[in-house]
Amino acid sequence: MNPPPHPRRTPRPPQRVSSGRYSLWRLLREGIKGQRGWSRAWAKASPRPHYRVVIVGGGGHGLATAFYLATEYGIRDVAVLERGPIGLGNVGRNTTIIRSNYFHPDNIRFYEFSLKLWEGLERKLNFNAMVSQRGALNIFHTEAQRDLFTRRANQMRLLGVDAEALDREAVRRLVPLVELDNGRYPVLGGFLQPRGGTVRHDAVAWGYARAASEAGVDIVEHCEVTGLTRTGARVTGVETSRGAITAETVCLAVAGHSSRLAAMAGLKLPIESHVLQAFVSEAIKPVLDVVITFGAGHLYVSQSDKGGLVFGGAIDGYNSYAQRGALPVAEEVAASAVTLLPALARVKVLRQWGGVMDMSMDGSPIISHTPVPGLILNGGWCYGGFKAIPAGGFTTAHLIARGEPHPVAAHLDLQRFADGRMVDERGIGPFPYLH
Ligand code: FAD
Repeated sequence: MNPPPHPRRTPRPPQRVSSGRYSLWRLLREGIKGQRGWSRAWAKASPRPHYRVVIVGGGGHGLATAFYLATEYGIRDVAVLERGPIGLGNVGRNTTIIRSNYFHPDNIRFYEFSLKLWEGLERKLNFNAMVSQRGALNIFHTEAQRDLFTRRANQMRLLGVDAEALDREAVRRLVPLVELDNGRYPVLGGFLQPRGGTVRHDAVAWGYARAASEAGVDIVEHCEVTGLTRTGARVTGVETSRGAITAETVCLAVAGHSSRLAAMAGLKLPIESHVLQAFVSEAIKPVLDVVITFGAGHLYVSQSDKGGLVFGGAIDGYNSYAQRGALPVAEEVAASAVTLLPALARVKVLRQWGGVMDMSMDGSPIISHTPVPGLILNGGWCYGGFKAIPAGGFTTAHLIARGEPHPVAAHLDLQRFADGRMVDERGIGPFPYLH
């Protein structure tokens, strides 16, 4: 007698949930019916053995890449593998600032593309991400800084992007809280991008996750990638804490962990990992309705809708993977805050935290093929990757789907470091801790 045929392992179809359309009408209906009609915002998928595209990292860039692959490029056989729950990486740790006020023309085009995507994002995702274009103001204190900001504003305006030069009186009217006559750092004026502002950071992860899941993407949480599988030179899959998965393309979107993941394929990236910290104060009455950057120190501050003041400073000046805050930076940021906004001196700081940043050698990101076939890199976001999430996701999806860079991200290739074509936005050379 022949043995019974071995049961063939058929791949399980992806689990789907639909959370339905969010609307005012739905809120009213659920309110009346006791809130019983809500369902999970995205499916908790289990990994399948094979996907066309595997994206490592369920932060803003990984989720946005998956969403645009499915909705703009028709590639739905996609998994996003996240080692923890989504939204707990830098996407949920940043100071929420969005803007496109750069100097390098290619960077202006890239970040402006992102800002335009932010402007329509909530409608596109059907998710309230609290996009608030309240204005981003850089304050200057010397004539040399005035020249720099004027050049930057002119460059932006030449490319059709909004930028305004403000004199002292205009700064006073816009932000009465700023101390204009500080003996050491008198304010001479400001450089405003009215369309800059803030976005609720973790809502960005949730909104993209929900929309990507709805479009057919598997979002696999608690699935750590522990190795990259090679067939010959090519990367053909990943080893994970939940088993091996094969894929035609593997995309790394792991922010501060880019170097570690790339090393699994034998690649050494021009990236250092540093910690960047943020701080939030107790909630106070509305006092600040723009984002301010202090030109004399490394400080940026905005007020959240809950009333807390959200502060950020410079990166820790040494390499680290320790995702936590530390006192020296807290002191530095507090000193700058009190110099710029002395009326806040008695406000209490409630929380402080850190995120691991992938600082590239020229301070600009990388969206690129790598020398390893089958492996794509989205990384090197430094301080600025939150504002870039829509454009980073869109252009990474383009690169995966079309096999060639999107025109607004063509300057962000990895090869530039080998060729010496740096995208040195601030002109300060290959020193990550200075960018
Ligand atoms: P992340 O959210 O970090 O996503 C990467 C994910 O990869 C993580 O969830 C991680 O768990 C996962 N991962 C890592 N290794 C593995 C593995 N082996 N297997 C599976 N998953 C893995 N940018 C701005 O534009 N404006 C700002 O105001 C701003 N402020 C900031 C303030 C702070 C304090 C910090 C820390 C950052 C700030 N940034 C800001 C930068 C911005 O947050 C980051 O550049 C951006 O979020 C990085 O991209 P991401 O969202 O994809 O990263």
